[in-house]
Amino acid sequence: MASDCLFCKIAAGEIPSTRVHSDEELYAFRDINPAAPQHILLIPRQHVQSVAHLEDQHAAVMGKLMVMAGKIAEQEGFAEQGFRCVVNTGSDGGQTVDHLHLHLLAGRHLTWPPG
Ligand code: 5GP
Ligand code: ZN
Repeated sequence: MASDCLFCKIAAGEIPSTRVHSDEELYAFRDINPAAPQHILLIPRQHVQSVAHLEDQHAAVMGKLMVMAGKIAEQEGFAEQGFRCVVNTGSDGGQTVDHLHLHLLAGRHLTWPPG
């Protein structure tokens, strides 16, 4: 755990969040400032800064994170209607929290391309 990382603290329960899923490797919770009717964040418990910092050793957990995104979509009832998975990376990518996270957005028609 990175001691100064907001999402490490959320995953550890040191900062409260609305939990959607929790297991040994992953944590999912509702975004505090939702950009869609459904806005869930999925994170690996292990601190990784971004996609640009992934190494081969992270492949298994990132695979599980993607599988879990689909399971949560099913569980929350928006899998059939559709949803979007977004991983903002770095400054131009719009990343504001430096702990890799996947945004799961649903509940309205999402336009393309993004802004
Ligand atoms: P990014 O901009 O890095 O891709 O996404 C960070 C996300 O984290 C934003 O959507 C923001 O609303 C969310 N966020 C920031 N701080 C908190 C917090 O303390 N709790 C929760 N639940 N979400 C947060
Ligand atoms: Zn972290």
